[in-house]
Order: sequence, then C-alpha cells, then structure tokens
Amino acid sequence: MKKVKEYLNTNVLTKITIALAVLLTLVALFLVITHNAPISGDKNDTTDTCKTVVVVSNGDTLSGLLSKQGLSHSQINEIARVLKSNGINGLRADRDKIEFVRTNDESPVNKIVVIPSPWRQVELTCTDGANWQCNTVDIERDTRAVYKSGVILDGDSFYLAGMRAGIPAAILADVYDLLAFEMDFERDVRAGQKFSVLYEENFSSGAKVDNGHVLAVSFDALRGNVKMYRFKKKDGSVGYYDEKGNGAIKSLKRTPINNAKVTSSFTTRRKHPVLGFTRAHKGVDFRAATGTPIPAAGAGRVIKRGYNSGHGNFIRIRHNGSFETLYAHMSKFKSGVNVGTTVKQGQIIGFAGSTGLSTGPHLHYEIIKDGKHVNPLTVKLPAINNLDDASKTKFLEYRRALDDGIEYLRTHPQMFIVL
Ligand SMILES: [Zn+2]
Repeated sequence: MKKVKEYLNTNVLTKITIALAVLLTLVALFLVITHNAPISGDKNDTTDTCKTVVVVSNGDTLSGLLSKQGLSHSQINEIARVLKSNGINGLRADRDKIEFVRTNDESPVNKIVVIPSPWRQVELTCTDGANWQCNTVDIERDTRAVYKSGVILDGDSFYLAGMRAGIPAAILADVYDLLAFEMDFERDVRAGQKFSVLYEENFSSGAKVDNGHVLAVSFDALRGNVKMYRFKKKDGSVGYYDEKGNGAIKSLKRTPINNAKVTSSFTTRRKHPVLGFTRAHKGVDFRAATGTPIPAAGAGRVIKRGYNSGHGNFIRIRHNGSFETLYAHMSKFKSGVNVGTTVKQGQIIGFAGSTGLSTGPHLHYEIIKDGKHVNPLTVKLPAINNLDDASKTKFLEYRRALDDGIEYLRTHPQMFIVL
C-alpha cells in the first residue's frame, strides 16, 4: 500500500471513508446552491456589479456576442487579439461560457470572463475603456480514482454490462476503444466474463465536475485476461501498456466501428452473396446503418479514394511501409478527405452505405500487410509506443503498486483513491 501512496501521491487512502464522501457531497451541494444564487446584482466587495452569463450556442461568434454587449469594433478586435495570445482562438458551442460584468446596468462591460473548460477561466479586465488585461486562472481540482467492476450476463453486450456496473458512458467508450486493440468483441465475449475499470473522477470544491482518464482496465476474454494500464513516462508522454509493459495501443484497429457486429469474416473461400460463386472474402464485414461514420483504423495517408463496381465508394489508406487498410461500400466520403490527405487514428473518413456489390448497408474492411490481405481480427499488429528498459522497470513498479490499490478497492468498493 505504501507504494500505491507513493505513486498515486496519496497519503489518505485508508482514511477516506463513505462518511467523508457524503460530507463532501453535502458541502458541494451547499456550495452549488449558494453559488447559484442571483447572478445579476451580486454583491461585490466594493460596488454593485451586473453579470450576464452567455452559454455559447451554435452559430455564435466571439465578435457577434461582444457586439451584442455594446462593445465597439476596435474593442472587439483588441479583445480577440488578447484572447488569441492566450490560446483562445474560437468558441465552442454548448461548451464554452462567457460572463460579461458591468459596474451597473448602464455602464459598459469592464470585465469579460471566458470559461473554456470547467478547469480554466480567462479573465479580461478593462479599467481605461480601451486596454484589456488578461489573467488566466486554473481552477483547482481534486481527482479520485474510482473502481467499478461487472460481469457479462447471457445475451448481454459489454456496453449493457458496463452501464449496469455504473461505469459512465464516456468512460465505457474509452474502455471499448482500448480493448478493441486486443479483443474481438464478437468472438471473445461470453456470459460469465468479468471486467473492471479504474478511472478518474474530477471534483471542484467537493462537487463532481467530470470524468478523467481510464487508469486501468481488465477483461477476462476468451483467450485470456486482457489488462491495460495508463502510464506517464519521464518525458511526460502518456500511453497504455499491458501487464508486461508492451505498448497496448496498436497502429491499427481491428474493428474501426465500435460495437459493430461482424456479419462476414475473413476467409480464403466463401460463396459470394451477390455473385453466387465461391471466392475469397478478403476482409471483414461489420453491420452498420447507412450514414454511420467510419473512422480511419490508424494514422496514415489516403492513397486511393474512388469507386469500382465491387467495392463501390472506397478509401484506401497507407499507414506505414507495411500496412494499408481499405474501407468499402461507403454511401459518401467525408468532405476534405482526398487522395493525399493525412488522417489521424479515429478521424472520420466517410460514411457506411451499400454501394457496389453489396446486399445491404455495412462496412467492408480490409487490412493489407506487405501487399497481402490478412485477417483484421487476428493479424499481429505493431504497437505505437513501446517502453525503453528504464521506463519499463518504472512501469512494472508502478503497475504492481496500482494492482495493490485495485485489489484494495475491489474488496472495499465504496472507497476511492485520492490522486
Ligand atoms: Zn465484405
């Protein structure tokens, strides 16, 4: 346990109790209630101030919002310039908030607070009616590691079982993305299998604000237990590694679309559903409704984008000297994705459909290794980041400590680790 504390920078692991959690929640509620008291007409230290809070919505622009508040063209330009030099280039709908503060109802705006995340505030103040000073405030957060575990029931999907285990949907999606590098959810998942996740929850003033990273995952898959751990190297780079310290993030995904059912597997001989005669199926078919976004299986460069009678609309990506992937039967391509476009892993390249020789909407996905088609669900894929010997030693120490922490939480499900 000492090791866990050391590595997770905690000294109160055993002191945290449910009572404390309840107390914190009550304090948080109190803070939320008192904070949400009147927004405009708030009593300030010296003067009465007037505050207007605007939640950025679709179509809003910074200049539009500023101009609505009565700011002049030159002031708007100045504010945009100051914000830009502080890393804020635009506003995101439904996420960012802006507060406009005035001394009273009639006076001009003299303070603007841009809130680009729950953890950061950018405050602009103007005392002379022309120049804006900028001050960035990072909001303190308390992070806890929370452990959840579950079991697959008969007829269950991993998603359903995860929701039942109380794992938030966004964390489940991350877990799925991670496990998909190692598992085939179609074949490796059976009733009775157990899984667990250790993930971060971020709190501000005792109130939960959002979820953080997935710290560790374990899944008792058919062909063995799959475990992955998040680990930060000395140089600050972060990756996921298996128990032995091998890079867990692979250069390609076996199943580009999450949770898609395999409707036809890779085979060297099969009866073609449209042509009627026997021929190889050089890829895997995933059921996907028309319009389902198709992410690139790995980072690379688009080398073909076109149409042929078999594949319909298809895209072919070269990932490195050895691997290429192909996506067929698309209803349409994502605009901006052309031959020569560099794509990231997970970037949407097009949308599922049924163009070409196809019996219904699906994604036909191929992996080509050194010019030969290979089975996407079984081919050995290279890891993106591996650890050097020194980092591996550190990782293994960390991993053992984390495993001790996980074992502790497993037997004390109401507890959490303070990070
Ligand atoms: Zn196919």
